[in-house]
Amino acid sequence: MSSLPFQDRPTNILIIDDEEPIRNLLSAILSSYYVCQTASSAEEALKALATKKFELVVSDIDMGGMSGLEFVPRLHSLYPDTVVVMISGNQDIESAIEAMRVGAFDYITKPLDLRHVEAAVERALHHHVLLREKRQYKEQMEQLLEERTAEVDRLAYYDTVTQLPNRSLFEDRLAQSVAIAKSSDQNLGVLFISLDQFKKVNDTLGHAPGDSLLKEFAERLKSCISETDTVARFGSDEFVLLQTNIKGTKDVIETIRSLSQVLKFPFDLDGQELFATASVGVSLFPLDGEDSQNLLKNAGAALYKAKRSGGSNYQFYTADMHDLASRRLAMETSLRRAIQNEEFLVYYQPRICVDTLEVTGVEALVRWQHPQLGLIAPSEFIPLAEDTGLIVPIGEWVLRTACLQNKRWQDQGFAPLQMAVNICARQFHDQDLAQTIIRILDETNLAPKYLELELTESSIMQNAEFAAETLSGLKSMGMKISIDDFGTGYSSLASLKRLPIDALKIDKSFVSDATTDPDDASLVMAIITLAHNLRLKVIAEGVETEEQLQFLNLLRCDEIQGYLFSKPVPAEDLVALLDSHSVSLPTKILQANESS
Ligand code: C2E
Ligand code: MG
Ligand code: MG
Repeated sequence: MSSLPFQDRPTNILIIDDEEPIRNLLSAILSSYYVCQTASSAEEALKALATKKFELVVSDIDMGGMSGLEFVPRLHSLYPDTVVVMISGNQDIESAIEAMRVGAFDYITKPLDLRHVEAAVERALHHHVLLREKRQYKEQMEQLLEERTAEVDRLAYYDTVTQLPNRSLFEDRLAQSVAIAKSSDQNLGVLFISLDQFKKVNDTLGHAPGDSLLKEFAERLKSCISETDTVARFGSDEFVLLQTNIKGTKDVIETIRSLSQVLKFPFDLDGQELFATASVGVSLFPLDGEDSQNLLKNAGAALYKAKRSGGSNYQFYTADMHDLASRRLAMETSLRRAIQNEEFLVYYQPRICVDTLEVTGVEALVRWQHPQLGLIAPSEFIPLAEDTGLIVPIGEWVLRTACLQNKRWQDQGFAPLQMAVNICARQFHDQDLAQTIIRILDETNLAPKYLELELTESSIMQNAEFAAETLSGLKSMGMKISIDDFGTGYSSLASLKRLPIDALKIDKSFVSDATTDPDDASLVMAIITLAHNLRLKVIAEGVETEEQLQFLNLLRCDEIQGYLFSKPVPAEDLVALLDSHSVSLPTKILQANESS
């Protein structure tokens, strides 16, 4: 008998025959190559099969009790790969066909011929190998398919960063929950949640810490919900939570409380500690919507309101909320028209040197003279202009108007002033910014040293390398650069050291509390000291009271800007201030300056 492909492990053969001499004969022939076991009936064979698997079964057909033909299907229900060779005293072809029909692989007849037995066993075992390999291949394929399907499902229904369900899966679950709630008279809560300032974190710290924040935030969100609730990520900083079977608003508020509790602890973003807050908009089923689309839309409108109120708060949906969204749309349309119709104005707010008490410069601040709504403050339309890109043409117009005005004052004989113009992130990252500025300076004939660009920390930190290069280019032309609203971003003074900057403007929120809040007082003090060490000029924004002025004077703050001296005013109103050369400061301060 040639060697069989079972060299690595023993091959087990079960021999079943009610005649002992045949069992013994077969066993004697096959035992030198294989591990053989015998059984005198099909019933005994089934007992043996209960504990052991055989590659091959050589079985008689007629055995008294269960026949070989009845036995084969039972064997194959246990072990589909086990191959059967039938032995029979019948020489007729019908018996052979019958044996094959029930699943036997081969058929040999008595009296047994040694060579026939060996050849049949060898063929049967080869067939077993084929069967086994085919089955293994099929199983591997099935497993692979299962894994692929799971992966496709995961990609289609789960967010890859947080592993939370995505919008599709959430919408499915919401629709199902709405159907169940309808039939069982239950209430649902849909909480649209947004991580405040996420874009800023992503822009300043980079995407990896941004992703860490999202993952950790998702984990904390999950800890606030019960098993029947669903939390999903819709994209960027937006998460949605479905709270099922609620009694009323109290249950939703309870969840929001848990959320604010878990946000009390700082996030560890690859070594950087950060505190995060979230805004939440809530809609309730059936009160605020009868279907999933309306519930989501209304929770979104409530979130928009929560964000507009400064973030870190929650809002329940009310019917007037969509007015806000439609106002925004209307504003976008009229903002486009405003550019063509030249509806913008520039106001100027003076900056005063603390030492000389003279107006050293002005900040150009845009306003929108809306034909119906009147004068609109920049905080109302600059964010929209940034989102839509309209800030680029608006900003260019402000730059040109401000430079032209500055040159006009110089031509009128006033002492030259520094003209500060705000440049937001979108403008700063516009490829053509430097070219535009050069063209405007050229057109207006203003020397570059009289133009100062005010940038925020976040627009610089979005891409520090790009910022360093762009700022160096602008500075080499002679312009001044200052950092606006300093203290509200995430940058450190150390990171600013590497950038070609001339001045820092301390944000008005710190200035306004510096005389009442010791923390803000020490912060202002620290900023001034460190900035001076870095040879940067310091300008305090939003000075409104004499106390603030006195405090800043003591700290040797260089320049001051605020309502105490003047609100932003039209160019013609500023002339009066320039005429007098120095502003009339409160007497106490004047005395303090004279005596120092
Ligand atoms: P900002 O650059 O920090 O400008 C200072 C803001 O503080 C101005 O608000 C000014 O009116 C206000 N302010 C000045 N002194 C005081 C004070 O004593 N008390 C208080 N409470 N506020 C004071 P405004 O004009 O509403 O501008 C708001 C922001 O809009 C500006 O903040 C700036 O970021 C942006 N902005 C204004 N004009 C432009 C522009 O032409 N282009 C761009 N990109 N942004 C602009
Ligand atoms: Mg500014
Ligand atoms: Mg500012």
